[in-house]
Formats: sequence, C-alpha cells, structure tokens
Amino acid sequence: MSRPTIDHRGPEFQALGYELLESVREVFKTTHPVVIFPASGSGAWEAALVNCLSPGDRILMVETGQFATLWKQIAERLGLEVDWIPGDWRHGVDPSAVETRLADDREHAIKAVCVVHNETSTGVVSRIAQVRDALDRASHPALFLVDTISSLGSMDYRHDEWSVDVTVGASQKGLMLPPGLSFNAVSDKALAAHAQAAMPRSFWDWTAVLTANEKGFFPYTPATNLLYGLQEALAMLREEGLSNVFARHKRHAEATRHAVRAWGLDILCANPDEYSASITAVVTPDGHDADRLRSVVLDRFDLSLGVGLARLAGTVFRIGHLGDLNDVSLLGTLAGVEMGLSLAEIPHDAQGVQAAMRALVERAA
Ligand SMILES: *Cc1c(COP(=O)(O)O)cnc(C)c1O
Repeated sequence: MSRPTIDHRGPEFQALGYELLESVREVFKTTHPVVIFPASGSGAWEAALVNCLSPGDRILMVETGQFATLWKQIAERLGLEVDWIPGDWRHGVDPSAVETRLADDREHAIKAVCVVHNETSTGVVSRIAQVRDALDRASHPALFLVDTISSLGSMDYRHDEWSVDVTVGASQKGLMLPPGLSFNAVSDKALAAHAQAAMPRSFWDWTAVLTANEKGFFPYTPATNLLYGLQEALAMLREEGLSNVFARHKRHAEATRHAVRAWGLDILCANPDEYSASITAVVTPDGHDADRLRSVVLDRFDLSLGVGLARLAGTVFRIGHLGDLNDVSLLGTLAGVEMGLSLAEIPHDAQGVQAAMRALVERAA
C-alpha cells in the first residue's frame, strides 16, 4: 500500500481494476457485480438504500444492536418509513418475526428487508439463510439487504446462494485493511429496482460506477493505495482458503468463550446458535465498570478492548478475534484481559487463559 499512487486513468490502473472487480466477488460468493466506493462502511449503507428505493418507501429493519440502529437512522434521515422489529440486543434476527410482518403486508408496501449479519455491538450473528427462507415462505417480493461488514472474510457468507439483493461490506474488519473502502454486492433484482428507484443520488450512483467499471476504471478518484491492499488481502484469503479462514475464526471464538466461562463471566449473546466467530461481547458483574477494565488494560498492556456501545456502555467489553490472528496473539489478548480483571478488581476465577489453551489444543488444526 505504500507503493506510489498510479494514474487512475492509465493502463496500469486499468489492469488492476479489471483484476480486482473480478476477484473481489469471491469473498462475497457472487458472480454478480460488486460496486467499490472510497468510503467507510456507512457510505455503503447509504448507497444500498439510495440506489434501490424511493422517498417514502417502507422498509423492514430489525433491532439487533447498535449497528442495526445506526442503519435505521440513515434510512429515516433519507425519508424512508422504517418498520422496526424491536430486540433485546442479545439475540439475532428472528426469521419467524420477519415472516409474520411480511405475511401481514398483503399490499406489498414493504420494499426492502434490511438486516445486519454480524452485529458487532453484541457479538450476535443472524442466520441469513433462514431470514431468506422467511421472505420466500411469505412469498413477498421485498428486496433483501444485508450488512456483512464485520463478517465478510471471517464467517461463511453467500450472496448468491442466499439470494441477497445488496450486500454491504467494508475494508477494515475481516478484510484486514485500513478503513476507506466499502462495497455493495448487487443482484440482478437490485439492479432492476435501481433502474426505477427515485431517491436522489450522485456520488453513490451504481450506474456511474458500473459504467466506468466496464473499462476497469472508476468515475472519480478511487482509493488507489487501498485497492493495492485489497488485492493483497484477497490473495491472502485465497492462499489460506476461505473455508480454512472461517474454521480458524470459529476455533478462536470457541477458545475465547472457554476463557469467558472459566472467568465466570457472561457472554452477551443469549443463543449458542448465534455466537459470532469474529467478536465476543462479555458482560461484567453488576457494579463493576467494564470501561475501568478497558482503561486498565490499555494503560498497562497497550491492549484495546471494544467499548460497550449505547445501551451497553459500562456493562460490556468486546474481544475482537478477526482478521490476521493466530493462536498466540489470541492468547496474549486473553492474558491481558485476565490480568486486567485482577487489576481492576473484578471478581473472576483466573483460569481463563488455561481453559482457552486447552480448547485450542483439543481443536488443533
Ligand atoms: C464497523 C461496522 C459498520 C460501520 O462502518 P463505518 O466504517 O464505521 O462507517 C457498520 N456495520 C457493522 C456491522 C460494522 O461492524
């Protein structure tokens, strides 16, 4: 990524563009176009909405946590009518609740169902294939939009097989890159909706990007150096093999949960079928501030734990275990947490790292 930035209208860039626009599809498991924006993930959220909807359209969203809530805020600011299925921030999307809402919508007023695959604020993953089945069982024509920002390249995700219409991704989580690239993988149905959609759009317009992409280029200046990085990230994922990458994340998540249980602390995710492979949110005991633990481990060990967001502030800390991570870096993290629990005087049983080591050895690849 520290190579010189090349002319984004020249032949060297064109070769890079052709290659990347093809190879980026692998990680989404799609044969359809992936639109790349020079933006953080929030840009791709907005792009997904403005490209296939019209002002005043009704959409169905599900409160899985803070990221679902932020996506809802964008939708409301854009003038969409959001049907909101409330949640307790400990569960993923309930496919039967989605099915009921859609079955009740006999006029097909709901134009899109938008869900977050891996809710980064809670460490809960939603079962996208089953949500897809819910749309199909209700025989409802709504578009299906999925945020896979913190699961792409870490957990199994299948844009085509699950008939997702727009998949939202970004560079800075499982793709191991700095922030600054985001993605919309788009189905034929999404492109057809795009042709009719009346929401104002300019920077985010898929047609402008896809037209330039036909020649390997972008309509405006791309984040060229991040594209170099994307090329390498995709090569790394391909070299390890996506299924091996997913198995590695699952194994690290299991070891992390062994540590949490041995500490005697609670995992925020209430349903074992919905445990995230990329992040674990841990609840601190009543009366013990999670942010105090976070500041202790940051000061002492230069270790950053994820903050409890919004309604989880002070009661939850999050251990990220995604991307370029191996057994000893995970164990270093868990050791930092375990020492931090002692230093912050949070009641626990100091057996977590041992339990994680045992879990890793039992599941040795
Ligand atoms: C990180 C994240 C985002 C936010 O993206 P930004 O890059 O901060 O704009 C959105 N959704 C999920 C699930 C995320 O984890």
